Amino acid sequence: MPAIPRLPLLLLAVTLAAACAPSGASAPAASVATPAVIGDGATAAPAGGAPSPSQAYPTPTAPSGSRAASAPPGAGGAAAGLTPSAEASASPRATATVDRRGKVIYLTFDDGPIVPYTRQILDVLAANEATATFFVVGAMVTRNPQLISQIKQGGHAIGNHTWTHTAMTTQSDAQIRSELTRTTEAVGKENMGACMRPPYGDRNERTIATSRQEGYKTVVWTHWAVDWEQPPVPELVASLKAASEDRANILLHDGGGDRPNTVAALKIMLPKWRKQGFTFAAVPACARPLT
Ligand SMILES: [Zn+2]
Repeated sequence: MPAIPRLPLLLLAVTLAAACAPSGASAPAASVATPAVIGDGATAAPAGGAPSPSQAYPTPTAPSGSRAASAPPGAGGAAAGLTPSAEASASPRATATVDRRGKVIYLTFDDGPIVPYTRQILDVLAANEATATFFVVGAMVTRNPQLISQIKQGGHAIGNHTWTHTAMTTQSDAQIRSELTRTTEAVGKENMGACMRPPYGDRNERTIATSRQEGYKTVVWTHWAVDWEQPPVPELVASLKAASEDRANILLHDGGGDRPNTVAALKIMLPKWRKQGFTFAAVPACARPLT
């Protein structure tokens, strides 16, 4: 009885709780995390955000807490490039002359698709001409298939966030393959990018290799804004400001809980980022088709 019995649990969890919180994740505002960046703005190093065992989806076994203590390297350096003077210069005249060369932010949204937040986020992105990546949970896709079309129509990329949102290091290779394959079948292979994000950031060399054999690059993040804890909007905005740097890969959530504050913070930050010269792109690995 694989999937069906899990759905009520999934829904309950979605209603009640936080999302794919990286471990150690009750971090305060300074919680911008910067694991080692590998390649195209994605990360695959087994450092930084590790899983939080208590979270929203059925998680049969809590992952080892060993990673929870590992402080992400480079944390604290994320505010570079965002100064009061930079913000002060954001007049219409300054906007017209802003340097738009090469400053890109990768916004990523996990745990959906879900009503109404995925749609609301799509609207904010469209209003700001921003492209992003949605790491979808297969069991959620089956409940909201229309949102997959809307994500693709918006020009965004889709990544695989597994079927049950279970910590991958607790699973066999066969289970990992099944989680990935089922999710891609629900999304439609033509819609799925060549990337996956392990729930809770829980990964090791085996999960990365198994995912790669299935065609997916493991993509984590360089920054988070702790939006799964639903902080007040000003706090969330402050976290996003601190993440304002070229090639930041920012973990946010459309699913896994109530996300009005995430939507509100994006409404504030996307215009600010644009005035600072940032553009917004899909994570490159996710923009590539799954082969
Ligand atoms: Zn997640």
